[in-house]
Amino acid sequence: MSLSTEERTIIIDSIRNIPDFPKPGIIFKDITTLLGNPKALNILMDHLTNRYLGYNLDYVAGIDARGFIFGSILADRLGIGFVPVRKKGKLPYTTVAEKYSLEYGFDEVEIHIDAFGEKKGAKVLLVDDLIATGGTAKAAASLINKVGAKCVEACFIMELAFLKGREGFDTQVYSVLQID
Ligand code: AMP
Repeated sequence: MSLSTEERTIIIDSIRNIPDFPKPGIIFKDITTLLGNPKALNILMDHLTNRYLGYNLDYVAGIDARGFIFGSILADRLGIGFVPVRKKGKLPYTTVAEKYSLEYGFDEVEIHIDAFGEKKGAKVLLVDDLIATGGTAKAAASLINKVGAKCVEACFIMELAFLKGREGFDTQVYSVLQID
């Protein structure tokens, strides 16, 4: 079920733009104002729940840190488990790691080796607040597949479409809002 124009406007208006954060030239999309707006959050989560009810998912995986919030709410609504994909060094048990390139240097994400249990090929939805270049999400999807599950779709609240992050992503991508 797609969002009505009014619902879409309520979500867009609840997200705050912070110019020049964390550095000059970046417009940071601040979702703390969306989280603080129960009507906007409810419309968003209803929309995502309706979309994914028919997917027959086994898990939702969320990317550190804002993906944890939307991902956990969605997992609970779908009645399935939530798995965190974390920045390096945060997970306590045995992990699998994946590096990805940043503008300068690289970063690394990790997942617990047994995150999706014994069953091979668990169907996993990956969630984050925003896709920019796509580097973080591609690394996260790759980790999910590496530990024996299957990342069936990557879902974002926002997509910075001009950065073409979905290109070269071998997982289906869904974004609620596309920003040009
Ligand atoms: P990327 O790997 O380039 O797709 O970057 C995605 C990650 O960086 C996500 O976890 C986002 O939360 C964060 N991010 C990148 N650009 C922005 C932005 N303009 N506003 C808010 N978060 C951003």
